[in-house]
Amino acid sequence: MPNYICITCGAQYGETDSPPAHCLICEDERQYIGKNGQQWTTPSELQETHHNRIAEIEPHLTGIGTEPTFAIGQRALLVQTPAGNVLWDCVNLLDDATLEAVRAREGIAAIAVSHPHLAASLVDWSHAFGNAPIYWHADNREWVTRPDPAIQFWTGESLQILDGLTLVRCGGHFPGSTVLHWPTGAPKVPEGEGRGALLTGDTLQVAQDRRYVSFMFSYPNMIPLNARAVEHIVQAVEPFPFDRIYGGWWDSIVASDAKSAVRRSAERYIRAISP
Ligand SMILES: [Zn+2]
Ligand SMILES: [Zn+2]
Repeated sequence: MPNYICITCGAQYGETDSPPAHCLICEDERQYIGKNGQQWTTPSELQETHHNRIAEIEPHLTGIGTEPTFAIGQRALLVQTPAGNVLWDCVNLLDDATLEAVRAREGIAAIAVSHPHLAASLVDWSHAFGNAPIYWHADNREWVTRPDPAIQFWTGESLQILDGLTLVRCGGHFPGSTVLHWPTGAPKVPEGEGRGALLTGDTLQVAQDRRYVSFMFSYPNMIPLNARAVEHIVQAVEPFPFDRIYGGWWDSIVASDAKSAVRRSAERYIRAISP
C-alpha cells in the first residue's frame, strides 16, 4: 500500500489502500487546499515525473531540491560533518540517483526538521539510511502525518544533535518551529574558520531582497505574528554566532551580516504591526 503524498503541501501519510479523505496540514489555517481540490500522488508516481537537483552550496553543505517544483518547492540541506551528516528539512522525491548522490557524501546520520510544512517524505529518507533518527519538536507532535519509530520528539529550547550542530526552538509560525545552528558554516575567504550559519526553513523567512527576514503565522494566507512572538524568535537565536542564513529555498540566503539582518528585520516588523 502506498504512503500517499498531498500535492499541495507535500505531507506524506501512513500506508492506506486509497488516498486519505483529508490533509491535516492543508486544512489548517496556515495552509490551504489547492484550487483543484484535495489531490494526492504516490512516491512511485513522483519518480516518473520528477528528479532532484543536487548541488554544493558551500563546502560541506549540499542542497537537494525537486524539479519541476513540487508542493511547497523547498530544497533540503545536507550538512556534512566529521561526525556524520544531518539532513535538514526534506523533499518528497527519493530516487536511485538521489540515493547514490547522498551515499557518495557518506549518507545521513540524522534528520531534523524546521516544522511540519517542510517535512515531506522524511520517513522514507530515514528508512533508506538505516532508520536515521528524525528530530521533531514535541510541540509540533500533533502535526505528524506519518508516525514512525524513527521520530524522536525533543522538548525544551535547544538540543545539540552532533558535532556542535544545535537545534534551537524559536516558535512563532508553529509552536515548535526550529532552526539549526551550524557553527562551522559560512567559512571566511580565503579558507578559514566558519563564522556560523543558521538553517531556518521559514521559521525566519528570507525576504526577496536577501537583506531582511520575516516572521509569519501563515505565509500563504498572510497572517502576521505579534510583537512578543517576533521578539522571542530574535532572543532565541541571539546567543548563537552566525553570519549567514540559509532559508528553505534555493535562493533564500542572507549571505553575510545575518545577525544584524535579523535584528533590523524584527524592529521593522514590530514597527509595522504596532498601533
Ligand atoms: Zn496537504
Ligand atoms: Zn511553513
